[in-house]
Amino acid sequence: MVTGFFKKLKNKLLNSSSKFTKNLDEAVKEATETDVEIDDREKSSAETLEKNKKNEEVKRGEEENQVSQVENMDEKINVNSNNPKVNKAKSVVKKAFDFLRSKPDTRKILFNDDFVEKLEDILISSDVGSKTALKISEKISSKAYGRKIAVTQLKEYLIDEITMILEPIAKPIPIYQTVPQIVVVVGVNGSGKTTTIGKLASQFKMAGKSVMIGAGDTFRAAAIEQLSVWAERVDVPIVKGDQGSDPASLAYKSVEKAINENMDLLFIDTAGRLQNKTDLMQELVKIVTVIKKVKSDAPENIILVLDATTGQNIISQVEIFQQMVNITGIIMTKLDGSAKGGVLISVADRFKLPIHAIGVGETLDDLQPFDPEEFATALIGDFRE
Ligand code: GDP
Ligand code: MG
Repeated sequence: MVTGFFKKLKNKLLNSSSKFTKNLDEAVKEATETDVEIDDREKSSAETLEKNKKNEEVKRGEEENQVSQVENMDEKINVNSNNPKVNKAKSVVKKAFDFLRSKPDTRKILFNDDFVEKLEDILISSDVGSKTALKISEKISSKAYGRKIAVTQLKEYLIDEITMILEPIAKPIPIYQTVPQIVVVVGVNGSGKTTTIGKLASQFKMAGKSVMIGAGDTFRAAAIEQLSVWAERVDVPIVKGDQGSDPASLAYKSVEKAINENMDLLFIDTAGRLQNKTDLMQELVKIVTVIKKVKSDAPENIILVLDATTGQNIISQVEIFQQMVNITGIIMTKLDGSAKGGVLISVADRFKLPIHAIGVGETLDDLQPFDPEEFATALIGDFRE
C-alpha cells in the first residue's frame, strides 16, 4: 500500500535507498553480463523497448530541458527556501521526473554463490551489520538458490525478510493507566534527545494529553534554553533549574510538579556526555533512583535516542546505555540525512528492543510512527509504485 506517509518517508530516506539501489544495480549488471540468456518474454519486451527507443530519445530531450529548469529552480529555492509554495512546486516537478525516468526492470539474475556473496556485501555496505546481512541472504537463498529470479522479485524477498525482522519490535510508546507517566530520554550528545522531546510533546498534546517537560540536561545553559524554546513553541509547561544544578534534583522536582498538576505525561531530558562514562552512569542511575522515591513504579519508559548517521558505532552505544539503565525502547533520528538507514535493521535484529518512532527531519511533524514494511520498502527502492 502506498500511503502519503510512505511517499514522505521514501523521499526522506532517499540517501539510504539510492545507495542501496546503486550497489544492487551494479551487482545486477555484473551478474547479467555473465549470463546473457534471454527468455522469450524478455525478448519480446526487448523488442518493445527497441521500438520505444526513438520515442524515448525524444522524451529524454524534453526531460533534459526540464531538468535544467529544475536546476534553475533549485538555485532560486536556496534563496527562498522558506517559501512553502516554491518547495511544493519543487517536489511536484521532481516527482514528475521520477515518473518519466522509471522503467520496468526486466532484468533477471542467477541466484548463485557469487550473487549471495554480493548481496551480503551490499547489505553490509548499507550498514545492516554482518550477522544480520548473513541471516537475510541465507533466508533469501533458501527460496531462490540456483534459480534465475527477476530483480523485482529479489527486492520483494528483501522487503519481506527485513519486514519480518522489524515487525516484532515496531511498537509505539506504550501508554499506561497510572499518571503521570514518566519518560526519561537518554542518548549521546547531539543524537536528537531535545528535539525528539519537543516533537513527542507536540504529538501527545495534539492527541489530547497534558504534557510537561523537565530540563534535566543541566550541564549547558544552551541545552536548557533550547528545551525552553520547544516548550514555548508547543505550549507545554517546563521545569528547569540553573545551569550546573543537580540533574537528579531537577528530575525529582519535575515528577512532584507533574503529580501536583495532574499531568498525563512528563518527559525528562538528560545530558549525554559519553566521554565520561562513569559520571554519566552515576548521573543517570541517580535520576532513576530519585524518580522512584516520588513514584515507585516510575520511570515507566527510558527511551534511548540514536542518531542513524552514526552507523555501526550505534551498536556499542546501545550496549553502553543498557549497562547504565534499563532501556525500554528506542527512537532513531536523522534517517532523512543518512545513507546508513540499514543500521536500524541491525539494531532491531541484535537487541530486540522496541523501536517506537523514527526522526526524519528537524520540524515538529518529522517524528513518524515506525512502520516496518514502509520502512523496508523505502530502503530497498521504489519499484512498487
Ligand atoms: P541532543 O544533544 O541529543 O539533545 O540533540 P538535539 O536535539 O539538540 O539535536 C542535535 C541536532 O540534530 C539539532 O540540530 C537537531 O535539529 C538535529 N536533529 C534532531 N533530530 C533530527 C532528525 O530526525 N533529522 C534531522 N535532519 N536532524 C535532526
Ligand atoms: Mg539536548
